Amino acid sequence: MPLKVLIVGAGICGPAFATMLRRSDPEHSITVVERHPEIRHNGLQIDLRSWGVPIMQRLGLIDAVREKVVHEEGLSFVDTHGRTHGVFGASGSGTGQQNFTSDFEIMRGDIVQILYDASLEGSKPSSDSEDGPGVRYKFGTWVTGLAQDEKGVDVTLSDGATERYDLVVGADGQWSRTRRLLFGEEAGLDMFKPLNLYIAFYKIPKEPQDDAIARFYQPGDGRCIVTRSADRPYTQAYLFVRTDSEEVKQAVERQSVESQKALFEKLFRGVGWQAERMLKGMHESTDFYADSLGQIKTPHVVKGRVALLGDAASCASPITGMGTTVSLLESWILAGELARQKNDVPTALAAYDAKARPYIEEMQKLPPGSPWLMTLKSRCAIALLHAILSFISWTNLDKFVTWFTPEEKGGLPLPEYPELKLDPVP
Ligand SMILES: Cc1cc2nc3c(=O)[nH]c(=O)nc-3n(C[C@H](O)[C@H](O)[C@H](O)COP(=O)(O)OP(=O)(O)OC[C@H]3O[C@@H](n4cnc5c(N)ncnc54)[C@H](O)[C@@H]3O)c2cc1C
Repeated sequence: MPLKVLIVGAGICGPAFATMLRRSDPEHSITVVERHPEIRHNGLQIDLRSWGVPIMQRLGLIDAVREKVVHEEGLSFVDTHGRTHGVFGASGSGTGQQNFTSDFEIMRGDIVQILYDASLEGSKPSSDSEDGPGVRYKFGTWVTGLAQDEKGVDVTLSDGATERYDLVVGADGQWSRTRRLLFGEEAGLDMFKPLNLYIAFYKIPKEPQDDAIARFYQPGDGRCIVTRSADRPYTQAYLFVRTDSEEVKQAVERQSVESQKALFEKLFRGVGWQAERMLKGMHESTDFYADSLGQIKTPHVVKGRVALLGDAASCASPITGMGTTVSLLESWILAGELARQKNDVPTALAAYDAKARPYIEEMQKLPPGSPWLMTLKSRCAIALLHAILSFISWTNLDKFVTWFTPEEKGGLPLPEYPELKLDPVP
């Protein structure tokens, strides 16, 4: 029996899971609700790594990714005068293996669009209210209530509509409302384990000295600035701060963009290197985004007939570089188990919960020394780090660098699902 499925969130794993589910059985009725009024192209460079690469290959989407790949040539560590203390090249392996720079760096908006288009391939134009085989998106809509029994989930939407589904999938990001509805408001929020690390990112005008090498600058006191230009006509600016300050936490998590900009101005004014340029660009930017970084630790990624995917289930935090890969892998396992269990939702969800766990634990392992190594507090520690990085870079000990990277650990294979049909729907 084909399923009636609701997916909450049209970021990366929402459309990815919709694509896999629809290809697996074009008779499934799949509705995706997205809080934003349209597909969100926001976000800067993200990585496709490890299992994410073969999954995009199996979906026949790797060429679309290749066309959009950001050609970054590596990462250089600089001091306040812009002097280089170690340069590390991109891996260039073509497999998703990485140094500090992955083979498949892509702008978030591009991969979201690729997956969204794939989920709708061969679809007939449908109205919002249409119910039947295929995928349909409802923008500007979110879930306000979930009640489930053994046979289905009754969902109330923000537009007042109520509907019963065989399966609900929460793909609504780090602060997932689905997770909070499922486990309770407080418990759902407590599953976010903060790293006391805050980020602001945005685009600024590109200048002649902005080449294809990313720059990493640490002024001390728990802050760092990263710039990335690659082959793009703009420069991406990232400001990180590691702090226990309640004021910073409140401003980033609760306050307006203007208050967040004022906070980062206060934190980065006069810290050296290109700080003033970054702050000027920040005030002029229209795509500024700030958030707290942390990990989502859930005891289970399913409850009854509701499953969580991606950041909602197991955010690994951007410093692992694994967010997109985790979200694709979880979509893959959930779609695979539904195909294997012939749409028996409770059995498939139990299998998804068990099979995803070792991958989640592996991907949530933070690179050694992070986040403090990237946000050192003392100038002496930064000088020592620069000396070590210069030595590694000078001696070409790049293998050492891969020790910091996730692919070298775990050795878990991509789970195979021959039952999962992945041919595009004509
Ligand atoms: C605007 C934005 C920018 C980002 N930029 C970066 C970046 O530059 N670098 C990086 O490494 N990671 C970034 N991320 C996070 C990255 O996309 C994820 O870590 C990862 O790829 C997993 O994707 P996901 O689909 O689980 O979550 P997300 O990509 O976060 O997608 C979640 C989706 O759910 C929607 N949503 C949220 N709440 C609700 C609700 N109640 N009802 C319906 N829909 C809802 C959101 O609008 C979003 O479209 C960004 C996320 C967002 C939302």
